[in-house]
Amino acid sequence: MAKAAPKDTTTKYTTGEFQHTIDKCEGCERIIEVETVKYCSTYTMPESKWRLGICNFATHVKPEISVSTLKINPLKASKRAATKGKKK
Ligand code: SF4
Repeated sequence: MAKAAPKDTTTKYTTGEFQHTIDKCEGCERIIEVETVKYCSTYTMPESKWRLGICNFATHVKPEISVSTLKINPLKASKRAATKGKKK
């Protein structure tokens, strides 16, 4: 899954500026493999991107968004709105 880095950019990753990816990064399309070591092509410190939750650059994980479906009776809603106006 990890792409091999183009030869002209391999030094960018091997200088120590970029840290290797962590287990949670497995499956991400931004992983670049340089000399059998996997690096993130977007972020220099992948571990810190996962410290507070899901990495916002991750292509393999999406945050769960829970949407509650609340049904509102339009007649009751309009009566409620009308009574709120009268109480003043
Ligand atoms: S974008 Fe995030 S999940 Fe993907 S390799 Fe980089 S740090 Fe890991």
